[in-house]
Amino acid sequence: MAMTAVEVGELPFVLPPRVTSYINGESFNPLASAHEIPSVNPATEEALTVLSEADQRQVDAAVSAARTAFDSGLWPHMDVAQRKRILLQIRDVILEHTDELAFIEVLDSGLPMANVKGMMIPRMGWNFEYFAEVASQAQGDAYNQTKPYMSYVTREPIGVGALIGPWNVPLGLCSMKIASCIAFGNTCVIKPSEYTPISLRRLVELIHETDLPKGVVNLVNGRGHVTGDALVAHGGVDVVSFTGGTRTGRAIMSRASEGLKPVALELGGKSANIICATADLERALDGALLSIYGGNGQQCLAGSRILVERTIADEFIEKFAARCPNIIVGNPMDLETQIGPLCFEGHMEKVLSYVDIATSEGAELLTGGKRSDRHERGYYVEPTAVLATSNDTRVCQEEIFGPFATFLKVDNLDEAISIANATEFGLVGYIWSKDVATVMKASQELRAGTIWVNTPMTRELRAPFGGYKSSGVGRDSGSDCLHFFTEAKTTTIPTTSFLLPKWGA
Ligand code: NDP
Repeated sequence: MAMTAVEVGELPFVLPPRVTSYINGESFNPLASAHEIPSVNPATEEALTVLSEADQRQVDAAVSAARTAFDSGLWPHMDVAQRKRILLQIRDVILEHTDELAFIEVLDSGLPMANVKGMMIPRMGWNFEYFAEVASQAQGDAYNQTKPYMSYVTREPIGVGALIGPWNVPLGLCSMKIASCIAFGNTCVIKPSEYTPISLRRLVELIHETDLPKGVVNLVNGRGHVTGDALVAHGGVDVVSFTGGTRTGRAIMSRASEGLKPVALELGGKSANIICATADLERALDGALLSIYGGNGQQCLAGSRILVERTIADEFIEKFAARCPNIIVGNPMDLETQIGPLCFEGHMEKVLSYVDIATSEGAELLTGGKRSDRHERGYYVEPTAVLATSNDTRVCQEEIFGPFATFLKVDNLDEAISIANATEFGLVGYIWSKDVATVMKASQELRAGTIWVNTPMTRELRAPFGGYKSSGVGRDSGSDCLHFFTEAKTTTIPTTSFLLPKWGA
């Protein structure tokens, strides 16, 4: 990418004038007529650069590069130790560029720097290291029960992956997709969100500073219904991995089904955070705040419906609301900032629209509820909380995806579990209690893919992560990704030269 032109204030990084596709190891020169989308800094509302949208021709070129790298390239057949060495080079180049990647990510997404630099970038490196390890340890099976045959099962890379990521955690989620896809010998085309194209573009450039063969990782940028749709539908794509909203997930699954392509979908959530009277209430309070306001509230795994046992509810809610005005909402580049701006203007407006929806449904506004008046510019929203009247209301059923907590009071654990499960989603569930029987009951009865007990959130990369119901299809983990991104092949050999019937002899 030509590093000329736009300099942003006194920032130590010169932005590219245009974010383009990156195909077969090279920046792709778009046509002058390419559709362009401004990329805006959510903290200042200033244009950072423009995204040049990939049209069908570019998607064809990207898939063709990935196809060639898979069908006749070295990568799928490379000795696993050699492939692992290159994946570890990618880890190293990421970690060496921590400051730069963190800077771009914060600039483009508004995520707080402490979070990006302290957690996301190390996690990106770990994604490549972990999947290098999983691929190098992968084993086959053998069956010799049916005499005189032996059948053995090997796993082979599935082909070209179409990888589509959202804007809320661009580098963290897209790097996971790339690592889990290519580690097993596949090649890919990745499409990040049009709202956050810059950091992924830089990551793909950095990846090409390693010994990774050209064509293994390709990038296309553009709107979902244009570039994303062309990618999912492309005949050269073998498998689709998508993280994003549930409605988009349905469209993608339907589109991919035309080509009978396997899909993995990591979708939305409206997760319950159950606070029992038997909890360590101070920890539960810290955890409840982190689980809804962390990542600017733009997290699929947010504990967005906080269900508090009635005997402690008033005190708990009062303390929660009292903490909110003290949360540091501000410039995401500052290490002290706890909540940065929301990712783009339309999203901020959507989040704020739920304040009117909540009050029109009879909810009580407990704190926040407006754009932060401490900032002249930027998509800053005050940490907001409402007390809803019923789980049937929109603020309890719809994913708001911002710093917006919804409280409900419950009589007991049974009611909490029943309300927690009364949603179309099932991504995660939180339970706070010091009583073992209580947490075990919640763990068994909550209909969600991950249960966090007495902790705000933690992703164990080795363990399955994914959703029940409308929160997804499939799981991410070492073994789940191995199965998703490889084909099983059974080879059967007789162990003796037994006589075959001599038909026609
Ligand atoms: P979207 O579903 O709007 O978009 C996700 C990606 O899909 C973007 O790159 C988007 O492109 C693209 N896209 C949109 N339409 C199509 C289409 N028809 N065909 C192909 N691609 C398409 O989600 P958001 O970006 O708004 O992300 C937020 C959502 O992601 C939330 O619901 C959140 O819960 C979920 N999420 C789930 C996670 C999980 O692990 N379960 C993790 C993180 C987020 P573009 O943006 O350019 O239009």
